[in-house]
Amino acid sequence: MAEFNLKSLKAEEFINHEEILETLEYAEANKHNAELIEAILEKAKPKRDEAGTHSVGLTHREASVLLACDIPELNEKMFALAKQIKQDFYGNRIVMFAPLYLSNYCVNGCTYCPYHYQNKNICRKKLTQEEIEKEVIALQDMGHKRLAIEAGEDPVNNPIEYILESIDTIYKVKHKNGAIRRVNVNIAATTVENYRKLKDAGIGTYILFQETYHKESYEKLHPTGPKHNYAYHTEAMDRAMEGGIDDVGLGVLFGLELYKYEFAGLIMHAEHLEAVHGVGPHTISVPRLKRADDIDPSKFDNGISDEIFKKIIACIRIAVPYTGMIISTRESAKVRGEALELGISQISGASRTSVGGYTEKERPHDSEQFDVSDQRTLDEVVGWLMEMGHIPSFCTACYREGRTGDRFMSLCKTGQILNCCHPNALMTLAEFLEDYASPHTKELGYAMIEKELGNIPKEKVREIAKSNIDAIRNNNKRDFRF
Ligand code: SAM
Repeated sequence: MAEFNLKSLKAEEFINHEEILETLEYAEANKHNAELIEAILEKAKPKRDEAGTHSVGLTHREASVLLACDIPELNEKMFALAKQIKQDFYGNRIVMFAPLYLSNYCVNGCTYCPYHYQNKNICRKKLTQEEIEKEVIALQDMGHKRLAIEAGEDPVNNPIEYILESIDTIYKVKHKNGAIRRVNVNIAATTVENYRKLKDAGIGTYILFQETYHKESYEKLHPTGPKHNYAYHTEAMDRAMEGGIDDVGLGVLFGLELYKYEFAGLIMHAEHLEAVHGVGPHTISVPRLKRADDIDPSKFDNGISDEIFKKIIACIRIAVPYTGMIISTRESAKVRGEALELGISQISGASRTSVGGYTEKERPHDSEQFDVSDQRTLDEVVGWLMEMGHIPSFCTACYREGRTGDRFMSLCKTGQILNCCHPNALMTLAEFLEDYASPHTKELGYAMIEKELGNIPKEKVREIAKSNIDAIRNNNKRDFRF
């Protein structure tokens, strides 16, 4: 039997089945333990000193107790704490992105994904470089600056050279005032050498969803193909970091396994990255299983309600306070709106989950990876965010300024985010308003910028931001950043 060891590089030691089972027992035994739950909430509270605001986060055991807690008043406190942590570390900025599906060729047999190789219903497509250019122009014309590229796993059709060439194409497209300034990558687990190539290609975050941390279920859900190998998949982030990628994004596909098990595994994975590499995950995504071509979510037993989903988000926010959290258009506008209050800091907008979907007038369904719930335009999403008091941010400055890994975390910890991310968000919002927004969104946006400039603590920074925004509005200048 594998021994639990967060510092180990072996999947079954740092994501340890017995430790997760004991954690779940401990959490269940303490779900009414008000004293312990109060103490855990107290520990996680942000504390201020002269160096800034800090939160120590929580261990997987502590976080699991919060998730299990069934005392309504303490659950309320938990939601309030999640909101406070979000506000203290991320403020009211929400980073915007869109997925770009390059290819749905896939050799894996994942039972929940319509791209599985046995699915003969869907039309298989792989974008050529010319088609990628067209998709990128369509995305730039909406106002996107940050993409997450997605591809199935297929060493013949989608080799690493194809992914690298596509990244290069994406960065080179300059259409009107548009530019893609950060490309995040969501492709299958690969080798250290390939991660190094991705790093050299200038990617932002490497994202890989674990799908499930439960090894036995993992092997059943991935019966065939390279993804079947649980250890290779689970150890991917360590290889990515060894290859020089500082920013990695974790995620679980909720609905496949028991959510409490997944949650404990996810927090353990974050603890492991921190213990081994000195820096936790840059982002955590919270996808839920959705209907898709030949996939019926009701065939999977572990679907979760919106209430539980929100509690999971709040508990992740409290447990890993410096990690960005992402929600996609798998979720409805209503759920997304509520999740933003509980810790989400990044959302996609106007997504098309089919290969080549952005250049089609109608939303195509023939090669979609999953049904999109939130089908609004980017302009609508941006306007909606501002109506709720959030600042939509198209900022990509951090990694372009070399603030990745622990350097980004230290920005969070010292509160410098307000002198850096805040003006960057306002300047990139001004670009969006000038180049892509409807008159209504533009009006809302400039009113928000006017008000939010006042929240930049350093006078000098405030003045520079103001003058840059004037240059964006009046002199067609672009791409300022702190
Ligand atoms: N092929 C890559 C891999 O093996 O990790 C990743 C790209 S895949 C296009 C992106 C993610 O979509 C998967 O990791 C999975 O979590 C999610 N996904 C697959 N089927 C889904 C479904 N039916 N509903 C919601 N999300 C799904």
